[in-house]
Amino acid sequence: MATLDFLNGAETATAKPAPKAGLAEKPSLIGLSREDMGKALVEKGVSERQVKMRVSQLWHWLYVRGVSDFDHMLNVSKDMREMLKEHFTIARPEIVEEQVSNDGTRKWLLRFPPRGAGRPVEVETVYIPEEGRGTLCISSQVGCTLTCSFCHTGTQKLVRNLTAEEVLAQLLLARDRLGDFPDRETPAGAIVPNDGRKVSNIVMMGMGEPLYNFENVKQALLIATDGDGLSLSKRRVTLSTSGVVPEIYRTGEEIGVMLAISLHAVRDELRDMLVPINKKYPLKELLEACRAYPSLSNARRITFEYVMLKDVNDSLEDAKLLTQLLKGIPAKINLIPFNPWPGTNYQCSDWEQIEKFADFINQAGYASPIRTPRGRDILAACGQLKSESERMRKVDRMAYEAMMIAGHGEDD
Ligand code: SAH
Ligand code: SF4
Repeated sequence: MATLDFLNGAETATAKPAPKAGLAEKPSLIGLSREDMGKALVEKGVSERQVKMRVSQLWHWLYVRGVSDFDHMLNVSKDMREMLKEHFTIARPEIVEEQVSNDGTRKWLLRFPPRGAGRPVEVETVYIPEEGRGTLCISSQVGCTLTCSFCHTGTQKLVRNLTAEEVLAQLLLARDRLGDFPDRETPAGAIVPNDGRKVSNIVMMGMGEPLYNFENVKQALLIATDGDGLSLSKRRVTLSTSGVVPEIYRTGEEIGVMLAISLHAVRDELRDMLVPINKKYPLKELLEACRAYPSLSNARRITFEYVMLKDVNDSLEDAKLLTQLLKGIPAKINLIPFNPWPGTNYQCSDWEQIEKFADFINQAGYASPIRTPRGRDILAACGQLKSESERMRKVDRMAYEAMMIAGHGEDD
């Protein structure tokens, strides 16, 4: 198994100071539903007669063209643009750090300004280019309230839920940096994949439990899959949960994206230890919710994630129980070699054992890909994300606050 080789061979680009607009505390128009955007405009004096047309215009600029500056909205009058600038922002978060792994995986550490009360927060977003597709791994919370014992994020206390804007902005920013907005010039310094691969899939598998931030995640995913905007197919969006049963039902009904379950154990005693939310929603209830997930078929399967922990959950007896447990559910089992992080007591299963485990469930008729660890050298692999906000140095915070107070954070 690969040892951790921090940043060896990886490029790290610490971003230049944030563009001033990035620090604005004005409310953002990103992440609002059409209805809420309309209300916000009416409050600032846009007439009821015009509002629908204005929302359509803005929607197009924000989500088809990907602009982050009102002045680039060419068919919006100057007066209207001035009004928008005065009251709102559409700025991207600040890129604190951008790292490129030697396997091509990219990780961004993003800083969001406080909107209203609260502190700036930092989150990590990871882009994974693969043959024929590019997957963006998005965070939903800073930290996590759940404490899965093998997960690095779980060692960080919850700082807060991300807003819908902050969830969606991760996608917008990645598209900027990858030159992935059609009809728009690639921004200077953007990383453009040689083979033109872009963000074709998103997975809610970054930091946090997305179903503990249901409303914001729902709002962001509905915008990401809106056919008049970012237009991602719901089949290419996967939400991963540790098993928040009531919200699994709601995800099926209200969001309709693909579902992934962090299963990791097939007996309640063990799952209680690995994924403590199991004490609240044990396997039986979890699997009932999975069976009830709408429109499952062989083409629309639930992904069950199973982290391979040496001598903990990797026996062939576990493999057998796993296939019995999932009987009747259109399922794909994703075996994840455990990604180590500083301070963990777990070890990854031996490769030979992972292959035996995979063969067993394969023979039982389940697709069981072994997930190749990506971006381990930049701590971007599953379960390795941990916000730098804990590490955000005091001086940085002070400099940041000083800038805010001096008013340099305002949109100009
Ligand atoms: N909170 C959500 C989504 C984020 S975690 C969830 O738990 O589903 C994304 C996946 O990585 C989950 O399946 C998680 O269990 C797994 N994971 C966490 N820590 C890991 C580690 N150290 N090595 C491998 N996978 C890990
Ligand atoms: Fe939270 Fe998911 Fe990590 Fe568990 S695996 S601690 S739910 S992020």
